[in-house]
Amino acid sequence: MTVAGEKVNLSLMKPSETALVIGGGVAGMQAALDIADQGFQVILVEKTPSIGGVMAMLDKTFPTLDCSACILTPRLSEVSRHPNIKLLTYSEVTGISGEAGDFRVNVLKKARKVLEDKCSGCGDCVPHCPVQVRNEFDQNLGYRKAIYIGFPQNTPLIYTIDNENCIKCELCVKSCEREAIDLSMEDEEIEIPVGAIVIATGYELFDVSQYHRLGYGRFKNVINALEYERLINAAGPTGGNLMRLSDGKIPKSIGFVQCVGARDVKKDVPYCSRVCCMYGIKNAVMAKELQHDNVKNVTIYYADIRAYGKGFEEFYNMAKERFGIKFIRGRVGEVEEVPKSKNIIVWAENTETGDFLKHEHELLVLCPGILPPKGLKELAGNLGLEVSVDGFIPIQYPASNPVDTAVSGVYVAGCAESAKDIPDSVAAGSAAAMRASITLARGGEP
Ligand SMILES: Cc1cc2nc3c(=O)[nH]c(=O)nc-3n(C[C@H](O)[C@H](O)[C@H](O)COP(=O)(O)OP(=O)(O)OC[C@H]3O[C@@H](n4cnc5c(N)ncnc54)[C@H](O)[C@@H]3O)c2cc1C
Repeated sequence: MTVAGEKVNLSLMKPSETALVIGGGVAGMQAALDIADQGFQVILVEKTPSIGGVMAMLDKTFPTLDCSACILTPRLSEVSRHPNIKLLTYSEVTGISGEAGDFRVNVLKKARKVLEDKCSGCGDCVPHCPVQVRNEFDQNLGYRKAIYIGFPQNTPLIYTIDNENCIKCELCVKSCEREAIDLSMEDEEIEIPVGAIVIATGYELFDVSQYHRLGYGRFKNVINALEYERLINAAGPTGGNLMRLSDGKIPKSIGFVQCVGARDVKKDVPYCSRVCCMYGIKNAVMAKELQHDNVKNVTIYYADIRAYGKGFEEFYNMAKERFGIKFIRGRVGEVEEVPKSKNIIVWAENTETGDFLKHEHELLVLCPGILPPKGLKELAGNLGLEVSVDGFIPIQYPASNPVDTAVSGVYVAGCAESAKDIPDSVAAGSAAAMRASITLARGGEP
């Protein structure tokens, strides 16, 4: 089989020298790099066409406001160029058997319809494709063709044909001088022997349309926080211009609603998602940073501010004092749209003063909580694990072995275990890598 341009026979990997990492977000990338740097082989399986996870979609990172892509891009190329890492993107684990030191993993490699050893990522095929569809990477706010890469730093830089939307016109095939497109390509199943496994499948966002009263999906100027990240990103669908979806105007007044699908037993999400307070504050600050005097009013409606990390409390204070962000403690009740202006009316109770408020915003951003990704329960089941009540991967002894699952030789990193910010996900990635490497070095013995 060809993996990112290299011919390898993965079924001949030595389990005593090979680890599997499932999920290519920042946690899985870190785990893969740290295992590989210790001289072991790593198979990194990612279900989408590129590694990077959610961090690749973010604009800046709290609390330093560093550019997310600037931190992530060198790591993407480090992973793709590491001689000990084999990237299986657009692939999924379908079955696992065996035990620590000697697992057998079944992987389904979906047909990209583009030959990995021939595609140079030049993109010459793209203008020839007549099909335009919404780009998931841009949270469906921008467009891509049926032959596509989600974003410029797509890793590996290999195009993929979206089978669902491709009309088989073959214009891309004819346009490709390298003859890299093969519409007859079929899915492939591979069995790979590995000695240790790291689960790093990350998270997905709570679907904020479940709160009908908050207007998402009904009113154009109610968006979620990841859509906002793409709107303010210079590589995003608006070139970084924060604008309303109804009319393209710069919003002068923006509201952010925290805890949408977090700490809500009625929605079966009783836990705190840990990152939403900080990403909400970050995005409020970014509105002021980007639009300077154009944005007059930025208000955050919150339940409690949980600024628990290093520099977080200081960042929260800076948001209030330097950027003039208003913080209102209170859950938002109802949201309405003003028919003519498409502005958003927010009804809320200030739980500190007991006042009922009616505020008008030109844009409302809902900050969703973090859920386990779809398919995690099945993946865990394949490994002989049960997910915990919150749906994430449980840790057997959190105080002493915070990345060890109940199955020997299987470790977990990042948000696959619970909601975490980037530094904590990276730290867990390194920890899981260390544990997996010890398992390999000991031939599977705990
Ligand atoms: C709006 C928003 C803003 C944020 N801003 C910040 C910030 O400023 N600073 C900060 O520290 N944190 C921020 N975060 C949190 C940050 O996104 C996470 O900490 C980070 O993405 C966690 O990395 P991860 O690798 O665990 O998961 P992910 O980024 O979710 O990556 C998981 C990867 O696994 C893949 N995957 C899933 N299931 C499978 C499977 N079965 N097989 C193979 N692959 C699979 C996914 O496709 C994905 O590529 C923000 C979150 C949101 C929602």
